[in-house]
Amino acid sequence: MLVAEGIRKRFGSIEVLSGIDLRAREHDVITLIGSSGSGKSTFLRCLNFLEVPDAGSITIGGEQVATRQNRQGALVPRSARQVCRLRAGIGMVFQNFNLWSHMTVLENVMAPPVHVLGMSRKEAAERAQALLHKVGLQDRAHHYPGQISGGQQQRCAIARALAMDPKILLFDEPTSALDPELVSEVLKVIRLLAEEGRTMVMVTHEMGFAREVSTEVLFLHQGQVEERASPAELFGNPRSERCRKFIASVL
Ligand code: ADP
Ligand code: MG
Repeated sequence: MLVAEGIRKRFGSIEVLSGIDLRAREHDVITLIGSSGSGKSTFLRCLNFLEVPDAGSITIGGEQVATRQNRQGALVPRSARQVCRLRAGIGMVFQNFNLWSHMTVLENVMAPPVHVLGMSRKEAAERAQALLHKVGLQDRAHHYPGQISGGQQQRCAIARALAMDPKILLFDEPTSALDPELVSEVLKVIRLLAEEGRTMVMVTHEMGFAREVSTEVLFLHQGQVEERASPAELFGNPRSERCRKFIASVL
């Protein structure tokens, strides 16, 4: 479903990603853990083409993303159309929700299929209602993001990502901005998606949750995968000292 090979990225003189590989088969839930600054967000952003890697390849559903060098020597996508098409199949949920504040919950969920896929407003509204039901927000459809809790906003953001019927879902610390009492309602929705067999790559500091839902866990350190294993192995018997210390520090 998703193959990233040898992904490298530098910002100025600092190499933030030093050759990361990831393979997600259909239904896999791959979790990235690691301390702040280890490159987790940058790597996720590369998977969604919000950043273009300096080296390495990304293949989605068997289709490799084509790149070329621009005049400054930086790699850029060869075809904006290909990037748009592939990106439409990847849903991303951010730490800070990133909802459109001037739109209601329903409109937030309707907007992507209407604007990107050209779906009729009627069909988009029907699908959005069903998705809001799925994330438990059916009675908040006509509220604005500023009128609902952080947990509800994040569930709306998840419904919005699902509205494009994505093949892959990316989550970047989806519960890190939430008050502690709101974390579980969001994890419950993500767990449901994992149980449905959705292919997901997520960054989280919720180690108990990661252990429960992941098929594989990658521990990143300074832009490299220092350890990768099944959740039982990685959490139960981490091989590297650094990974062990990191897990102990966030538990
Ligand atoms: P994580 O998500 O693991 O905390 P990030 O991927 O956000 O790590 O960041 C990795 C490193 O890259 C950090 O040192 C960060 O400051 C740097 N970085 C991230 N984005 C940029 C950018 N757009 N420009 C310059 N440096 C960046
Ligand atoms: Mg991050």
